[in-house]
Amino acid sequence: MKFTILIQCGDDVTTPMVIGQIERTDPLQASALGLTLSESKRLLSRIQQEIVQAQIRHHAESQRICPQCGVRRALKDHRKACFKSLFGSVKLMIPRLFECGCDGVDPGARTLRLEGMVNWVAPELEYIQSHLAATVPYACASKLLALLLPIDANNAVSTVRRRALSVGRRLETELYEATVEDKPSSTHVDNCATISIGLDSGFIRDCRPQSERSFEVVVGRILGSDAGSRSIGFVRTLEDDERVRHRLRHRVAQQELTTEQMTVFTDGDAGLRCLQLAVLPNASHVLDWFHLTRHLTILKRVLHSEEAIEKVPTRYHEPLRKALESLKWRLWHGQYWRALRRLKEMLFTLRLPTIYSRRVAKRLRRHAKKLLEYLKHNADSLVNYGKRYRAGERISTSFIESTVNQLIDKRMSKSQQMRWSRYGAHLLLQVRADLVDGRLADNFLRWYPGFGRGTVGSSAT
Ligand SMILES: [Zn+2]
Repeated sequence: MKFTILIQCGDDVTTPMVIGQIERTDPLQASALGLTLSESKRLLSRIQQEIVQAQIRHHAESQRICPQCGVRRALKDHRKACFKSLFGSVKLMIPRLFECGCDGVDPGARTLRLEGMVNWVAPELEYIQSHLAATVPYACASKLLALLLPIDANNAVSTVRRRALSVGRRLETELYEATVEDKPSSTHVDNCATISIGLDSGFIRDCRPQSERSFEVVVGRILGSDAGSRSIGFVRTLEDDERVRHRLRHRVAQQELTTEQMTVFTDGDAGLRCLQLAVLPNASHVLDWFHLTRHLTILKRVLHSEEAIEKVPTRYHEPLRKALESLKWRLWHGQYWRALRRLKEMLFTLRLPTIYSRRVAKRLRRHAKKLLEYLKHNADSLVNYGKRYRAGERISTSFIESTVNQLIDKRMSKSQQMRWSRYGAHLLLQVRADLVDGRLADNFLRWYPGFGRGTVGSSAT
């Protein structure tokens, strides 16, 4: 059996052109049913060649006529160009036309231009490459595209990386060129009460030679009153406080919220607290309840261990156990001073000469001291968790944990043995954050009107 695939370009007046033939021999086998991948690649690439060349011919012809006076403009010469797309490269001869000079402008020659076209790269190629690059390692993205599409020289690993980072750079430029207006809070009173910002940080490996070090990446999520949320991510050393403040205010404004009366959730990390105080000094800070209980859980585990039951006399063990329960209750109700007193009582018991030198008492003292330090550093961030919980308000940073996972762990984690340049990681984070928020395709639609024509999905990974 033989199939001939024809294409008719232009206005149905040309003769159809053969773009490929497919032959199948009997008997029919599973592998021969339908198109094969290599055939489809070949066909797609030929179709792309014909369509693109016909479109450019048609566009060039339509541009020959001066829109002001209707005179046909003279052709100077042609310039070579190579259109890069998901379906292969197409070599083009782009005409240069003389201006007719009817509007008094010097009638020089100008190369034919396409609205929105930059370096003759198809927006969809840029989108798919940056989408994949923000999802999987650059090399995987390149291999995946080459496996499925008739993409050619424009799919080197370095090209995929460069395109993804250029999208990140464009997003960054837009962010810092954007002005954020402070909206009057009175119009958004309802929203103000419910803005939560979660901040967390992670570390990724530095790519500099002989460097074993990591650098810090801060991620955050802004939750408004509705289900909508925005993710942010940046390399800490590349952003000063002013830039972080602008980033946060811009993202909050995008959610049509104001930066007043917001609650910031962190795990109590000193760096994040400093950042919050510098960037959002008026925001109230809430210490994550689960990070707080993690300290209590460790204390409880040691106190309930066999060793503790055996080595600590009951007359001390029982009060310690009760004190720990009481400590948790006091923290749950945000009673900082009373909790501190309870913790100090526990430390006093653990320092009694009878048990002072016991190994388990040392361990308990070490953990209790850690908790004491942690509480002292976050004294102003303890809230009445019980009250908030009963009112259905947030008490933990669990909503930010998934952002950390999506922005850092899935793409940049140490387990993937990847090393990053600070700037590269920062730019890719911008693409990744928009991808996670389902906004990457929207950006392309803004840059290239008509992009995707409703077919490009904006779903996150
Ligand atoms: Zn004219």
